[in-house]
Amino acid sequence: MTTPHEYAQANAERFREQYKELIRIPSISTLPDHAPDVQRAAEWLAEHMRQAGFETAEIIKMPEGRHPLVLGQWNGAGPDAPTVLLYCHYDVQPAVVEDGWVTPPFEPTEKGERLYARGAVDSKLHVMSQLKACESLLQTGGSPVNLKLILEGEEESGSENINAFVDAHGDRLRADYCAISDGTILDPAQPSLVYALRGIIAMELHVSGPAQDLHSGHYGGSVHNPIQALAEIIAQLHDANGTVTVPGFYDAVIAADADERAQLAKANEWTEREWQRVAHAPQPWGEAEYNIHERVGLRPTLELNGITGGFTGPGFKTVLPQKAMAKISCRLVADQDPDEIFDLIQTYLAQITPPTVRSELIKMEPGAKAAVLGHTSRAMQAAARAYEQGWGARPIFERAGGSIPITYTFQKVADEVVIMGFGYKSGQAHGPNENIYLHSLHRGIDTAIYFLQEVGAQ
Ligand SMILES: [Zn+2]
Repeated sequence: MTTPHEYAQANAERFREQYKELIRIPSISTLPDHAPDVQRAAEWLAEHMRQAGFETAEIIKMPEGRHPLVLGQWNGAGPDAPTVLLYCHYDVQPAVVEDGWVTPPFEPTEKGERLYARGAVDSKLHVMSQLKACESLLQTGGSPVNLKLILEGEEESGSENINAFVDAHGDRLRADYCAISDGTILDPAQPSLVYALRGIIAMELHVSGPAQDLHSGHYGGSVHNPIQALAEIIAQLHDANGTVTVPGFYDAVIAADADERAQLAKANEWTEREWQRVAHAPQPWGEAEYNIHERVGLRPTLELNGITGGFTGPGFKTVLPQKAMAKISCRLVADQDPDEIFDLIQTYLAQITPPTVRSELIKMEPGAKAAVLGHTSRAMQAAARAYEQGWGARPIFERAGGSIPITYTFQKVADEVVIMGFGYKSGQAHGPNENIYLHSLHRGIDTAIYFLQEVGAQ
């Protein structure tokens, strides 16, 4: 009896050719001209789901001008077996040779150990890893878990419709476990598992003074300049250590224990190298008692994203401006509530606004709480064992500083969610000469098979 892993190995050549076939369909979701290509990719995927052994494979239309979801289902493991929901996206970013591509972006080109093409890593690597893992199980006696494979066609263009679809059809997507297959690991040789993502809240701080712009000769020195007042206010939002000074800001922050901090110290080795290479500022900044990985993943931030006010054109104009504005956002960690954080900032700003100006804080969007997947959940432990067997190294657990909004959506329909990325940071996702190490595809397939076997065995 052939095992799924033997099947994947025996069919490696065909899997690689099919991966290239999918890459050749330029499923660019942001460019209306490519809508037929996105549709063609959806049809290709539905057909390949059927060939893989899925019982149903449907193309779910989205509103006019938007791109379909593809949903494959297989319930052969029976009602007592767990159900696993797998998510990937099959649309890609635009790419033209003029952006600096050395090879045609939609003609997959192998060079040494790597393959170059748009979508190679983001995210057709994940689509094919999950699809071929399912095929390898379904063609060798069946999967130990029921399968729902959902593929999105507009992740790169705002994911406008999937959240509403999941909310409206939660019963069809209901699962014990969900694996969001997207993103990167620390290094092609060092897999990692993200178990926490930061939340966000964004706002605008408006400071105004006089009734209109004034002549700086007539009024300068007697009116508190709103730009200066804004600068004085925002200078009081952090102390010299980089800690946010808003009272209560850290009250709901869940501290990490020694075990977790030991794990994060390992992840920090990669984070620091990446910081030196990419951020490349004169030196790191921030809370001295935390390493860079912790500052980004474990601690919340209050960031100034933009500032406007007064005259900024060429030459000069001796104006005393009527108003100034700063855009502020906070990256939040568990258990900070976006609305409570907004209220705390609003209260503090009211206290520190000098009586010579007025300030107003405006919420820009509802905000999102941090998502904590936990590194001890059954799904996370299964994923860790899957990487160890399929990738060949025990993964490092890491916290991500950003947000993956789809995580919150799938937490509504699945008991446990994991994020399984097979890409790597220098794979140039979104940039020219996007590439993967070809072994990533085969390790991805193997790791995905092990994950389904591991959750099936629990
Ligand atoms: Zn992307």
